[in-house]
Amino acid sequence: MAKLKVIKKNKYLYGKFYHNTFEFRKALHDLFSSFIKKHNLDLKTHNNLIDLRNRTVALLNSWIGSKKLETKFGIKIPLQTTTPSIKNFLEKQARSYSNNYKPCEICGEKRITHYCHIIPKNVSGPSDEKNYLYLCPLHHHLFDHNRLDKKEWEIIDFSVKLEASQEYAKRVRLVRQQRFWQSIKNERSVNKS
Ligand SMILES: [Zn+2]
Repeated sequence: MAKLKVIKKNKYLYGKFYHNTFEFRKALHDLFSSFIKKHNLDLKTHNNLIDLRNRTVALLNSWIGSKKLETKFGIKIPLQTTTPSIKNFLEKQARSYSNNYKPCEICGEKRITHYCHIIPKNVSGPSDEKNYLYLCPLHHHLFDHNRLDKKEWEIIDFSVKLEASQEYAKRVRLVRQQRFWQSIKNERSVNKS
């Protein structure tokens, strides 16, 4: 029987620094909110300030994520200053009812495919077409959990993606994938003996 591997759980979901700066980021958010509330603003100014508040906090979050990526893996990514907008949301909704999905970049399935971030969102992976793979739900899940098989991994053409995404794929994801391939190999050899 294969040995059970004990997985060490992360104490902090998004890393210690992200956790430790939570109060500061919340205070910044509240500072904006109380300013907006205190002044009797016309609707347009009100909305613009809300937008500025959201962008400021998003920029700070993005900076934290990008620093993590830079210190841990030496990969630099551009800071993101955009926040999800109603327009993006509606476009995404419209897409989900269309029959024009781009085919899965691994298996060609096109009944439904997702945008899959190569550099994940929690380390500020850019919302950029070139940081996405189009993957069917199964391959999306397997990709996120580094459980693709070798053939599936090799089908993906990373050369057309952002340079930072290629680096991340090679230096982070591929290493985790290789660990997975090795673990299957070990399991097989244990089962044989
Ligand atoms: Zn697929």
